[in-house]
Amino acid sequence: MEGLIERAAADLSKARYAIALTGAGISTESGIHDFRAPDGIWTKNPDMERRAYEAYGKFLKNPAIYWEESLTLPDMLGDLHNIQPNAGHYAIAKMEELGILKCVITQNVDNLHQRSGSINVIDYHGNAFKLRCMRCGRRYFPEEYDLMLLKDTGKLPPRCQKCNGILKQDIVLFNEPIPSDAADKSLKEALKCDLMLVCGTSAVVYPFADLPRVARQKSTGSGFHDIMYTPELGSRVTIIEINAEPTPLTEEGVSDYLIQGNTGDILPRIVEAVSG
Ligand SMILES: [Zn+2]
Repeated sequence: MEGLIERAAADLSKARYAIALTGAGISTESGIHDFRAPDGIWTKNPDMERRAYEAYGKFLKNPAIYWEESLTLPDMLGDLHNIQPNAGHYAIAKMEELGILKCVITQNVDNLHQRSGSINVIDYHGNAFKLRCMRCGRRYFPEEYDLMLLKDTGKLPPRCQKCNGILKQDIVLFNEPIPSDAADKSLKEALKCDLMLVCGTSAVVYPFADLPRVARQKSTGSGFHDIMYTPELGSRVTIIEINAEPTPLTEEGVSDYLIQGNTGDILPRIVEAVSG
């Protein structure tokens, strides 16, 4: 283990453009449990899961009713306000501050990377603390709107101040496409990086799971036909996994090596090794 931490620190020191991908695993140590885990919110409340599956269809059909419900019923994700970033989040933020990491792409919607000090964060699946215009993509903070007043005066859904498009919570719902700005920017980062730190994600949810595979493929130069995204073919990328268990990335040889353990334990040790 110590050898692998030293190896990761050495690889990060050499990297020209390192990025991190993070998933649910980095937030479990903050007390956010997988929705479907035995103690998860959806396991305890199947009605919440059904609502989550139906939400996007409902929004498309009638945004006003969708908003009315989401302001009245309990939050499908539980309470994210009282959770705090953990040592893993702070280590990622520190690596950005040290100039080692250039970008974090996260599957999490909990805003904990931003709260721990990370600046260049791509919320691949949206952010539970933002609203998004479905026409122009502009993000807003919910505090910029008096949603209850809009509800009480029959003026839902909230509308974009720039283009008058309909707003939705930024968080990406089931069956909803990934916001195109987040998808494009993430793909460019995956093609640009020469080191990818994959933290706390089994990388099985697509299209997020494409990102490490795209980075790996550019090393071999196979599978690229899109002129817009032609990477420096043959450029070498190092993919380091930090996960509690081996994942398909480990098994398919997408990652170079796995440091097995909790991100809240491993990431601070890497920061220590890289700054020491
Ligand atoms: Zn707009």
